[in-house]
Amino acid sequence: MIMQSFQPPRRILMGPGPSDVSPRVLAAMARPTIGHLDPEFQSLMEEIKGALQRLFNAPDHACVPLPAPGTAGMEAAIMNLLEPGDRAVIAVNGAFGGRMADMAGRAGATVVTVDHDWGQPVDVKRVEAALAEAPTKVLAFVHAETSTGARSDAGPLCALARKYGALSVVDTVTSLGGIAVDVAGWDADVVYSGTQKCLSAPPGLSPIALSKRAQEAIRNRKEKVRNWLLDFNLLMSYWGGPDGSGGGGRTYHHTAPINALYGLHESLVVLFEEGQQAAIVRHAKMHQALAAGLEAAGLKLLVDEAHRLPQLNAVVVPDGVDEAGVRNHVLKNWDLELGAGLGPLKGKVWRIGLMGASATPWHVRLCLTALCEALAAQGVKLDAAAVLAAADAKLAA
Ligand SMILES: *Cc1c(COP(=O)(O)O)cnc(C)c1O
Repeated sequence: MIMQSFQPPRRILMGPGPSDVSPRVLAAMARPTIGHLDPEFQSLMEEIKGALQRLFNAPDHACVPLPAPGTAGMEAAIMNLLEPGDRAVIAVNGAFGGRMADMAGRAGATVVTVDHDWGQPVDVKRVEAALAEAPTKVLAFVHAETSTGARSDAGPLCALARKYGALSVVDTVTSLGGIAVDVAGWDADVVYSGTQKCLSAPPGLSPIALSKRAQEAIRNRKEKVRNWLLDFNLLMSYWGGPDGSGGGGRTYHHTAPINALYGLHESLVVLFEEGQQAAIVRHAKMHQALAAGLEAAGLKLLVDEAHRLPQLNAVVVPDGVDEAGVRNHVLKNWDLELGAGLGPLKGKVWRIGLMGASATPWHVRLCLTALCEALAAQGVKLDAAAVLAAADAKLAA
């Protein structure tokens, strides 16, 4: 067989991630590969570390991008902090909380889950009850649950971890860049994210921030971290750099994904050019416009307004409408990718992402237009002009 170059089709990415990647980021990734111990590359690593501290608002945390997608940040947090026999309290209000609980079990921890209905934010009182039962090493939760579109209140949850002597682990894969992430303000211990959601770089890297408390706990482990690649003690001999815990120099650990880091760097340049606060305001505004249009179309969002994530909108599929049929229609006719429901929400919701470069007026209007057409094709009666007008009124505000 003769292989041919892969030419991806045109796609507009408005699912749960990846989001659209800007041409600037793609161009950055196509620049020449240099060695990962090249002095120029080491300067880039240092600049990325500083930029991540700024992005997370974590000036006193060690911040590095792990060489794998968001799930690697989750795995690093869980596997570095937990040892066999440790107690972990994990809030589960969607698919990603469930994944954390699975990992904590694999680390040999005694896992206590605080389970919620999907679509609900994490209940601080119920988490406190679980922490009060027994000494706990780690409290983990998801700030922005992408499987449902619910936002949880990270500050009070991190404060509970402090009160009960536990280390907090916060998943900000979908929140970072789209809503406020304030690691210092929360006094959070281990916070991780991904590049493919609101940062709008391709998937493949996982920025992570570790507090001094967390670093000390990892240094003082009784046994070695069970996975080698993500062992923070080893990683910092590489990423620690001249003044980090590497002790004067960078030693080879793994080969950093060099071009992927060019992409992350460029996505951060783009974000800081716009301004982090301006980006957050933009995400909120695009969400308001989309929600107004959806409402005018007679559609309902799964999550109560008070806890809705702007960047992930779970839309309830009306009775009698074929969920997959709508997604297939917009993909075929508009090159538009929308997300399906996971787990108990399979077939019951569409997940519409407004993340990073996919959070623009053009995306909102295109999505509503395509959705109206797909629903009309299934016999739903709606006024597409009124739907767009409702969104436009918010966009003009
Ligand atoms: C996407 C996501 C992850 C996993 O990230 P990958 O890049 O898919 O590995 C973890 N947590 C949340 C909340 C996510 O949205």
